[in-house]
Amino acid sequence: MKKYILNLTALSNGYFEVHEEGCTYGTRQKRERLGYHSTCASAVRMSKVIHPFKKINGCIYCSYACHTT
Ligand SMILES: [Zn+2]
Repeated sequence: MKKYILNLTALSNGYFEVHEEGCTYGTRQKRERLGYHSTCASAVRMSKVIHPFKKINGCIYCSYACHTT
């Protein structure tokens, strides 16, 4: 299980990224804790439930399996 966070600052493409805690590409300021998940897919799914109107994507570096665009 890994701890995941959601970056609450959107990227220039409008997407909000899910990161493993400690990822150097995640922000330390505006973020939301998602808790422990066994896969990034589970963390992304939870983010989408919390934020149904946000576009959410996995970080290309720490959550490559969940990176779609
Ligand atoms: Zn990351």
